[in-house]
Amino acid sequence: MAYWNPRIETMPIAELKALQLKNLKALVRRLYDHSPFYRQRMEQKGVTPDDIRSLEDAAKLPFMYKKDLRDYYPDKLFVVPKRDIVRYHASSGTTGKATIVGYTRNDIETWSESLARSLTSIGLGADDVVQVANTYGLFTGGLGFHYAAEKIGAAVVPASTGNTERQIQLIQDLGVTAMAATPSYMMYVGEVAEKMGVSIKNDTKLRVGLLGAEPWSDRMRDRIQEWLGVKGINCYGASELSGPLFSECADQQGIHFWSDLTMLEILHPETHEPVGPGEKGEMVITMLTKEAFPLIRYRIGDISVIHEERCSCGRTHPRISRITGRVDDMLIIRGINVFPSQVEYSLLTNPELGNEFQIVIDRKGALDDMLVRVELKPDAFTDNINQLNALRERVESKLKNLLNVGVEIELVEPGSLPRFEGKAKRVLDRRVY
Ligand SMILES: [Zn+2]
Repeated sequence: MAYWNPRIETMPIAELKALQLKNLKALVRRLYDHSPFYRQRMEQKGVTPDDIRSLEDAAKLPFMYKKDLRDYYPDKLFVVPKRDIVRYHASSGTTGKATIVGYTRNDIETWSESLARSLTSIGLGADDVVQVANTYGLFTGGLGFHYAAEKIGAAVVPASTGNTERQIQLIQDLGVTAMAATPSYMMYVGEVAEKMGVSIKNDTKLRVGLLGAEPWSDRMRDRIQEWLGVKGINCYGASELSGPLFSECADQQGIHFWSDLTMLEILHPETHEPVGPGEKGEMVITMLTKEAFPLIRYRIGDISVIHEERCSCGRTHPRISRITGRVDDMLIIRGINVFPSQVEYSLLTNPELGNEFQIVIDRKGALDDMLVRVELKPDAFTDNINQLNALRERVESKLKNLLNVGVEIELVEPGSLPRFEGKAKRVLDRRVY
């Protein structure tokens, strides 16, 4: 088992927590002294740097919200002089106005270090060829993986998104072993390859998918692994945090969060109290060492579970389970919370169904109406109406059992739903309020 930074990655838990506390104290002191925003928020809560004596004391600190990033657009929350900024990125703005993140040279270095540890933990190294099929540009997905893959000595193919046939050609010609992409794009690459007469599994060296930037389910992972022969590695990050920062290790036991760089709390979304071990809650993230744009107790809105015990890979840093959904992605259907990733999970338990689906929500009278269009697999496509009806009913009842809300299913022809090169847009909410 290879480590990028063995001393830090395998540090005994007590020592790691002491390091985390030291970094937290330094952060709070720095922001109290240099950020009018944080100083004011801390004063409102009646807390000073001297009150932070243990990790639990972090609960005394104020939260920071996505709204703050928008209100202080573009750079009013930065705490270094402008001449120290070497890069800007912007959020994709899926849930409102874009937000700007600035980086110092050290911030770029820390970002690459974080992801370099992750890539090494998957078993990638100098012998690998990593094709980055995430967008290069303001979105952090492209450059984030690019810098980290170079750092570990891998060869990078900066393919960015689009031109799928060329992507497949490059995978074959350059002996690409890993590809960074959204899970939906990974699937699409598989489909296009088949049309070109190329089997990703048998005709290429591609073995690892660095997948993230959209919620996906374990069922989708199973399909990618079985069909494409590509290990689906769950990655995590957000532009506010730097970009893609963390991933699972080769053991696929959850996403390792580096405790020297971050502090993660899992809180009940309403009471804001920490949830018990193994319980689901809202992730609240503190970035301990960021210079230009630090974050204390940022309410990122993702929902997950934390695992504190040492991983089978030997790393002592905590892991989080697959993200169930972002609070913003949650749909409320007849008063019930529904995540698109739950729909995906349930659909993919049916071997007759393809990988693509679309959720359409309408309001009929006072009631929300949820329709899910899902593609059949080519070999399940038939003229036999009775057979299709039986399948539709089976899919509907499985989904209803999982979501506790009635859903109508429409089975559609293979290849008839839209495909996406970046983040999939699977929800069409046509309700008018
Ligand atoms: Zn591990």
